[in-house]
Amino acid sequence: MGIRNIVTEGDEVLRKRSKEVSEINDRIRELFEDMKETLYKTGNGIGLAAPQVGILKRMIVIDLGDGNGPMEIINPVILEQQGEQVEVEGCLSVPGVFGEVKRPARMVVEYTNLKGKKVKVDATDLLARCLSHEIDHLDGILFTDKVIRYVELSEEKE
Ligand code: ZN
Repeated sequence: MGIRNIVTEGDEVLRKRSKEVSEINDRIRELFEDMKETLYKTGNGIGLAAPQVGILKRMIVIDLGDGNGPMEIINPVILEQQGEQVEVEGCLSVPGVFGEVKRPARMVVEYTNLKGKKVKVDATDLLARCLSHEIDHLDGILFTDKVIRYVELSEEKE
């Protein structure tokens, strides 16, 4: 399919709980390919969750642009979260809106990768923030639900 449309705030798909992926098949692989293409096409996004392209599956793509990406995350489970960080963030599904959000400073998340292997990631800083933001999408939560203070910005990374 290629690049998919990014669903924006107001569409109820963003407010639903996504379902676990039970089997990694060609459809799942294709969806990841499409999600990556869609994410890279935005130019400034660093994460995309499947519900943002209208698919209620627990799948996330993250690429911080630091050479470690893309991460293909299936059925993430938060094992631990610690501390807090407050930074400005935005969302591809809420274009042009930016605000300060409190997130865990550290997140330990276990997920299944595309090979079907369980992987544990111990994340801090931007990766912890991004994981928290994207996992929220899988539960129908938007960053605007958590904004402490809105800010005026022309461009910010998701
Ligand atoms: Zn988002």
